[in-house]
Amino acid sequence: VHAPPGSSAGGYDNPYPPTRVLTSFEKRRILVTGGAGFVGSHLVDRLMLMGHEVIVLDNFFTGQKSNLSHWIGHPNFELLRHDVVNPLLIEIDQIYHLACPASPISYQANQVKTIKTNFIGTLNTLGLAKRTKARFLLASTSEVYGDPDVHPQPEWYNGNVNPTGPRACYDEGKRVAETLTYGYFYQDGVDVRVARIFNTYGPRMQTDDGRVVSNFIVQALKGEPLTIFGDGSQTRSFMFIHDLIDGLIGLMNAEPSQNPDHQSSESQPPDLSGGPTSGDVDQPVPDLPHGGEVDHRSDVHSPVNLGNPAEFTVRELADLVAEVVEEVKNRPSARSTIDGGDDGIRQLPMPKDDPRQRRPDTTRARELLDWEPRWMLRDGLKEMATFYWDRMKEGSL
Ligand code: NAD
Ligand code: UDP
Ligand code: UDP
Repeated sequence: VHAPPGSSAGGYDNPYPPTRVLTSFEKRRILVTGGAGFVGSHLVDRLMLMGHEVIVLDNFFTGQKSNLSHWIGHPNFELLRHDVVNPLLIEIDQIYHLACPASPISYQANQVKTIKTNFIGTLNTLGLAKRTKARFLLASTSEVYGDPDVHPQPEWYNGNVNPTGPRACYDEGKRVAETLTYGYFYQDGVDVRVARIFNTYGPRMQTDDGRVVSNFIVQALKGEPLTIFGDGSQTRSFMFIHDLIDGLIGLMNAEPSQNPDHQSSESQPPDLSGGPTSGDVDQPVPDLPHGGEVDHRSDVHSPVNLGNPAEFTVRELADLVAEVVEEVKNRPSARSTIDGGDDGIRQLPMPKDDPRQRRPDTTRARELLDWEPRWMLRDGLKEMATFYWDRMKEGSL
């Protein structure tokens, strides 16, 4: 299924989008924490279309009920207003743990709350997974690599994070969430998955959350200058939301391989002085709850990067957005109608601790999950610009 409802223009005319009918053996009870947010609501769409029973837990800090309104009342769907920092007792088969604000504006608005959400919220969700024997997937982030000095970033890279900077509540919060996840894996045998998600964009991203793709598209649609921070030479890799959902569901449902040498064809760490060596990284871990045979870092239990390896400078992104928006509006370029800038760009200072470059090494996801992003940036930007343009014309944006 590649175009869940709400992914592009159009509303929800019939009561519910058509969902598959599963046998009770195939059907899972799936909890999505943070399911009213951007990523979560697309994940819920896909799981519902697949015929599963989906329970969403959200405190609506950055998420919105309207992202899920098309499922309200469906017998397979339940929406709970709940904060993950409080314990939760339900019976469940799988947990996608996404609850956490994701944009710098929202996670810096209350830094202590962001840390509590990542630490106590993840602790509670893992406690729930342990009690119910549910499989648990953590939505981690490329931010665990900080401002990387290894490029592109493979999973073995331990990162370069400033623990006291403005991004630390999020970056270190996610790092501790990963540590907790592996604590429950080792100590309690919880069946865990960790997805390190790189920059993702698509319809339903909040337009005012300050992230670069939504900022640029909305600015271009309004005919305003695009705000480039710094000189625009910093890079990011942008993944379209449907590719991420493919990867998350693939990772959740991947079974451990029988072959613990799985990592043999992965890119190996370079010989960094003082850095990791392949020997250090791939040592089998003693005292595993699963009989000591699985090296968790070489299989589905290891962290897996999910991102689009195509890397763009912020400046290139601005050019592409301007072109795409011009096509979407089917009228002269937004940039040609802009006052005050020679090329429709407003240059602003670079924020502190803003990573200079970022690109995933996706070897592991390819080998373990047979997963590769399929959406080209231009096509994804067009979907997203169309979504916002329709709402702008309706007056709802
Ligand atoms: P989002 O802000 O749209 O969604 C997060 C959701 O979590 C929101 O619905 C919010 O209300 C909810 N939430 C926040 N704190 C909560 C709490 N204490 N209790 C219950 N619910 C809470 O963000 P998103 O882009 O959809 O990100 C979802 C997940 O994916 C996050 O964990 C984020 O760290 C991760 N991620 C996203 C990206 C990206 O590019 N979007 C990249 C890397 C990682
Ligand atoms: N927890 C929860 N739901 C459950 C089971 C546990 O919210 O179904 C919470 C529990 O309140 C605790 C956390 O998860 O704060 C960790 O639980 P665990 O059983 O691992 O630790 P303990 O309760 O022994 O400290
Ligand atoms: N950025 C920009 N203009 C904007 C918003 C962001 O130039 O209006 C830059 C930002 O400095 C960063 C990149 O775009 O280098 C991606 O920013 P975003 O906040 O989307 O993601 P993150 O920094 O978390 O990867």
